[in-house]
Amino acid sequence: MVDVIIIGAGPAGLTAAIYALRAKKSVLVFESNMVGGQIVNTLDIENYPVNPHISGYDFATNLKKQAEELGATIINEKVVSIENDTNKKVKTEQNVYEGKTIIIASGLENRTLSIPNELELVGKGVSFCATCDGNFFRGKDVAVVGGGNTALEDALYLSNIVNKVYLIHRRNEFRGDTKTVEQIKTKSNIELVLESTISSINGKNALENIVVLNRDGSMRTIPISALFIAVGKKPNTDYLNGLINTDESGFIISDESCKTNIEGIFVAGDIREKKVRQLVTATSDGAVAALEAINYLNNN
Ligand code: NAP
Repeated sequence: MVDVIIIGAGPAGLTAAIYALRAKKSVLVFESNMVGGQIVNTLDIENYPVNPHISGYDFATNLKKQAEELGATIINEKVVSIENDTNKKVKTEQNVYEGKTIIIASGLENRTLSIPNELELVGKGVSFCATCDGNFFRGKDVAVVGGGNTALEDALYLSNIVNKVYLIHRRNEFRGDTKTVEQIKTKSNIELVLESTISSINGKNALENIVVLNRDGSMRTIPISALFIAVGKKPNTDYLNGLINTDESGFIISDESCKTNIEGIFVAGDIREKKVRQLVTATSDGAVAALEAINYLNNN
């Protein structure tokens, strides 16, 4: 039995761990993927106070080290359900753990296009992470789909290592920052394919081409070696089995106190219903959720 079980070892979860451990509470952190969460894939973080440039990988590595030096135990098991008994139970694929409080900080997962072949060709040309996989396609033609900051930054990053980038977006205006769009427009090897959606992803053992449907009804086959899908993220709340209240999009409902509808269960980071999802708001949530959990433990 531990004081605080934290689900997710991204910036929110690890910050929560640091605060709880500094208050001398026992902590277990569960992570089924890479420690650090989505920020690991960011090449250069420029908007986190104090350090004007740090890679996501270094940020995550430092954060993990800081939590572990305080005594955090990070368990690499996937949480499949939680229960609200006298104590809280967290079931993983392997074990059952008990805690007096839980902080849900499991973040978001990639949204998909829901097109045949999309998932089958992951690792064979289809990727959800340009910074992880871009280098495999050095000198080749690739495509990025999406119109947010992730797609824009992916296209910029890839334009420096591949031959050509097709940036496919379903509207003619980007959701991402104007400054980044301006940078994109200066790149001669990025072709904007706007008002277009991908209607098929083709290839047997490796990606060969995609077919793109334009709003005017015209179709175009684009031969590419890689397709980077950057159409946003969605919360993964399946393992909560309806125990925790969410909004219609699946984000956990809470106010600035990071409390959920269940006493002793808190939420932190991108999985919380909120307007601003940034690194700084994730770490802020982690601190708030941990302080609320500490307060709960001291009064129960
Ligand atoms: P996002 O902002 O939600 O953008 C997702 C994009 O994918 C949108 O352009 C959307 O089109 C498109 N899309 C969604 N579903 C689609 C579908 N089924 N088919 C085709 N296109 C589809 O997601 P994101 O780019 O991952 O960014 C997430 C958050 O992180 C944002 O707040 C972003 O600003 C932030 N972020 C910040 C930085 C930075 O500050 N450096 C870097 C990366 C991300 P529509 O526009 O038509 O809806």
